[in-house]
This record gives sequence, structure tokens and C-alpha cells, in this order.
Amino acid sequence: MTKLLVLGGRFAGLTAAYTAKRLLGNKIDVTLINNTPYAAFRPGMPHVSIGVLRAEDLEVDLAAALPAKGIKFILGTATKIDAKKNKVEYELPNKDKKDITYDYLVVAFGAKLGVEHLKGWDEFGNSVCEPQFAIALHEKLEKFKGGNIAIGSGTFYQGTLTPRGKYPSNWASHADSACEGPIFEMSLMVPAFLKKKGVLDKTHITIFSPGEEILTDISKESRGIVKTMYSEAGFDMVWNFKLSEIKKDEIVDESGKTIKADLAIILPPYEKNDAVVNSTADLFDDGGFVPTDEHMRSIKYDNVYACGDSNQVTVPKLGYLAVQTSRIAMEDLSNRLGASTKQEEYIPEVVCIADNPLEGFAIAVNDTTFYGGDKKIAEPSPANHIKKELFTKYFMWTNGDMALDKYLASW
Ligand SMILES: Cc1cc2nc3c(=O)[nH]c(=O)nc-3n(C[C@H](O)[C@H](O)[C@H](O)COP(=O)(O)OP(=O)(O)OC[C@H]3O[C@@H](n4cnc5c(N)ncnc54)[C@H](O)[C@@H]3O)c2cc1C
Repeated sequence: MTKLLVLGGRFAGLTAAYTAKRLLGNKIDVTLINNTPYAAFRPGMPHVSIGVLRAEDLEVDLAAALPAKGIKFILGTATKIDAKKNKVEYELPNKDKKDITYDYLVVAFGAKLGVEHLKGWDEFGNSVCEPQFAIALHEKLEKFKGGNIAIGSGTFYQGTLTPRGKYPSNWASHADSACEGPIFEMSLMVPAFLKKKGVLDKTHITIFSPGEEILTDISKESRGIVKTMYSEAGFDMVWNFKLSEIKKDEIVDESGKTIKADLAIILPPYEKNDAVVNSTADLFDDGGFVPTDEHMRSIKYDNVYACGDSNQVTVPKLGYLAVQTSRIAMEDLSNRLGASTKQEEYIPEVVCIADNPLEGFAIAVNDTTFYGGDKKIAEPSPANHIKKELFTKYFMWTNGDMALDKYLASW
């Protein structure tokens, strides 16, 4: 039987594994390796930080969910992809080293949060990118009695996109931040939380970005509305701030510029996964992301797919694009293996919902201007908050099987 190996078990890896099984059934033997036993639902982590959701309610138990769908699960860390020998080396939690061969591989291990680029991170850094960060931030926000808060993102170590994948040049662009959606969401949630606690009037908030301004992946018009909203709320805005250090009461950028911050809430720098360093070098671009064609096949190794944040083309790094790229890759595989299926085209769009649950509304964004299109939707409404809740429930009900994501996103 054809062996498919999937590295990583969140939006991209889960979609790839479930879709391959759905399309190919007994024709395919699917194994997924993930370095944590649970897949945490990342878009719910900002909610954990303000105490409206619990991290333990946002975890998919991979060892139970995957075998139930006929997918083998290995808890381990992929350490090396040998694309010339069709082999992956991995390490078990007890440090035993193993390897596994494949006929087809899906690289879906995402990007790494490069917190080591930030001096002072261990002592003063806060984030919402993983459950442990969101839980720790919640404790700090509960204790916060007023002062300075800075919210913003670290650098995206993207490389120069060389070599480039085989797709239109406007699809994968340079971005100063990998994903500012969570920053925008936190800029809604944190003031709402502090207002409810009665300390907002004793707090000064600064929003910063490594880019020329925040949210450069959406239209100028939508960005303008966001900046007006920030000015009306009395927030300071600092752009071109390439964060390098977090101190007790301020953050510092590469040029020595500072922002006052008793609490710094950061999207850490994004960079290549650790496994890239030991792996077949020409599978990756110079930033450590995989250049592919429009069906997510590596431009160098025809039996390797890359989906989600680890693919070069997914800019900004979005769950919506992770699910889409995996669906497309597995449709391609299905057609190659003789189970004919409709092949979706990759047409990138920025789709995300910035939620503000404490005030009962969310802003749904659907924008294509980053890719040269003219869609510029940014709609605040209570209904969008309900959509985000349903998206969360849907992920948990299906154990991360986003089969209907395309339809949900078009609501
Ligand atoms: C706080 C936050 C909120 C977000 N909200 C939204 C949102 O509302 N909507 C949206 O569209 N996007 C959102 N995003 C972006 C979205 O979460 C990511 O784009 C998405 O998770 C990418 O999925 P992925 O599967 O490619 O990578 P990841 O989510 O990074 O998953 C990679 C998986 O591989 C595992 N792994 C890593 N290295 C290895 C290894 N060497 N061996 C084995 N396993 C490994 C990881 O543990 C993880 O399970 C948000 C991001 C953040 C940080």
C-alpha cells in the first residue's frame, strides 16, 4: 500500500491526513508524527489569555482522534528529512532515535517561534501563541493594576524566497510580520478585559509593528480604519520597530528605540523549523520554507508536499491558507494515485476573524489586496463573533477535520 507520512498535526497536518484518508481510503497508509500529544487550537489562545476559554477545552487528543479515522499516530519530533532516500528521522519523548520511510511526504510542521532572538524573553516575554503562554498571560492580566502595555509582533525571518516556487510572483510576498491577526485581536481583547476589571483608565497601550505600519497584508482603507480606531482609543502607534529585547518596564528595538511596557504581549519572531537544519538542503528556500508548485509539490522532490506555515507560498501565515494548501495537496495526490477527484485551484486570500468576546462582536476580514486583488472586507458585527465561536466548536467537534472550512469561510 502507498505510504503517506505527515509531519506535524495542527491545521495543515490534520487536514492532509484526514483528507488523504477520505479521498483514498484503503489505498493509502497514513502515519502522522507530531511532537505534542495534543493539537491545541491556536485561534482560541487569545481567548484563554483573557479567561473566556480554557486551554484544556481546546486540545485535540491525537492518539485517540487519528486512529479512529484509520491514521497511525507517532508522538515524536522529526529531526531530519532525507528527501533523497525518502526517509525521516525522529526522536521519541524518551530520546530514542528512530526512522521511517515514505512514498509521499507532507511537510506540515509549521514555523518555529524564535523566542531566542528576543533578549529577556524568558523573564519578561508574554504571548498567546501556545497554551502555556496564554495561561501565563492570563495570570498576569488578572494581577495587572494599570501601567504600560505594548502589543506587537517580532520579525519574520523569511529569507529572500530563493529559490522561488512555481506560482505567480504576487502570491508569496515579503512580510515584515508573519501574522498580525492575533496582534489586532489582542488590541481589541486586552482593553475590553481591562475595562471590565476597572483598570483601563490607568493603562496606556502602545501598538507596534516591525512593518511600515500594522496589517500591511490588508488594504490601506481597512488599515486606515484600524489606525483611526487606535487614535480614538488613545493608543500610541509605533511602526518600523524591530523588537530585540524585552526588559522589566520597556521593550527595545534593533536601533535602540524603546517603548514603555510593564507588560509586553508579543507574537514572537517566526523562523524555520529546527528540523530544517539537518534535512536535505535543496528542499528548502534560503529562509527554511519549502518552495512548491501550485499543487504544493516541492519544486525539487516530486513526492514531497509542503502545506501550511512551512510552505513558502503561505504569506501571511494563516490557518485558512494552511487548510486550503493541504486540501489542494491531497487532491493532487488522490489524482496521482488514480482516485479521480476535483482539483481545487490555489487562490490565496486573507481570511480571518478578530474576535472581541467580552464586548460581543468580531471583525471578519476577507482581503485580497496583498495578492493584487480588490477584495477589502473588514466587517465588525455580533454575528461575526458567533462565527468565531462556531469555528472553534467545529474544530473541536471534528477533532480538527476542517472538511467544511471552505464553506464556513464563505458565510
Ligand atoms: C495566537 C494565534 C491566533 C491565530 N488565529 C488565527 C485565526 O483566527 N485564523 C487563522 O486563519 N489563522 C490564525 N492563526 C494562524 C494559524 O494558527 C497558523 O497559520 C496555523 O496554525 C498554521 O498551521 P500549520 O499546521 O501549518 O502549522 P502549526 O500550527 O505551527 O502546526 C505545526 C504542528 O507541527 C508540530 N511540530 C513542529 N515541529 C515538529 C517536528 N519537528 N516534529 C513533529 N512535529 C512538529 C507542532 O507541535 C504543531 O502541532 C493564528 C496564529 C496565532 C499564533
